[in-house]
Amino acid sequence: MTAKHWKLGIIGWPLGYSLSPVMQQAALKAAGLKGEYKEYKVKPEELEGWLKTEAPGLDGFNVTMPHKEAAFHWLESNGKLGDPEQLACIRAVNAVKAEGDHLTGWDTDGEGFLEPFAGIMQLKGKRVLLLGAGGAAKAIAVHLAREARIRTLKVWNRRPARAEELAELVDDLHTSCETHAVKELSDPETGAVDLIVNATPFGMAGNDEVPREVIDHLHEGLVAYDLVYQPRETKFVQEARRRGCQVITGDRMLAAQGAAAFQIWTGVPAATVLPAMKKALDEHFAA
Ligand code: NAP
Repeated sequence: MTAKHWKLGIIGWPLGYSLSPVMQQAALKAAGLKGEYKEYKVKPEELEGWLKTEAPGLDGFNVTMPHKEAAFHWLESNGKLGDPEQLACIRAVNAVKAEGDHLTGWDTDGEGFLEPFAGIMQLKGKRVLLLGAGGAAKAIAVHLAREARIRTLKVWNRRPARAEELAELVDDLHTSCETHAVKELSDPETGAVDLIVNATPFGMAGNDEVPREVIDHLHEGLVAYDLVYQPRETKFVQEARRRGCQVITGDRMLAAQGAAAFQIWTGVPAATVLPAMKKALDEHFAA
């Protein structure tokens, strides 16, 4: 009998340079599976047609910008949601498993975000400042409150109304987490936290500026987590290291959310392939 050929991939538009193929091909190899992980450039107006006709030919795929929310809405009516209660809050998917015509959507960003804390920080009861209120911030906020059971979540966003919406969303989960939308980063009270998370593009290649008020909150004893991974050593990460923070770089979450997606598609445990995915990223950044 010939071995199954796994058909995996990623959809996005315009889908610039993605690290997912490098990582997922390393995962296939580490799991001893034959297969491919291809890029599918799908325009927003083509998404529905692609999900109906192309997706059933695959075993699974990642969903990236700008399709995460639109794919969620389509799957709500035409497919299934892997964890309906969680996805009802997040309202976006980043991974889809395809079994013939049956498509099931998942979010693995939240799980990928939490994975690197093992051995660094016990999150239960901690105070967190979250910068950003976009899709990734939402998945993280839901996981911090529901799974990690943090004590306090402060959310700051460039457009304050979105920070307020995210704080309300977390309040509506009725966990023990106290949530506040923060208006002024310069308020010293804002920085009285154990963990600061950058879920904005601050420090991304071509967007090197990190506001002074953010940098001023970085100090020894704090864990600083940057979601941005291009470059790996962002300005935020460099400043955090310089000021004595423990640092988690964005590639750690990237690898962990990818390993969680791989497990959903293939059934191979994320822990089995994660080391190979991290190594593939290390080699990429060292090149
Ligand atoms: P998104 O849904 O588009 O949200 C973007 C967020 O960044 C919003 O809060 C937005 O604020 C804010 N923002 C955008 N431009 C800004 C600027 N110039 N100054 C201040 N704030 C700005 O994107 P996302 O999916 O949440 O992604 C956010 C970041 O996380 C990106 O850098 C992405 O690459 C990274 N990410 C990393 C991983 C990983 O695995 N490491 C996974 C997912 C995302 P407004 O609401 O005011 O527009």
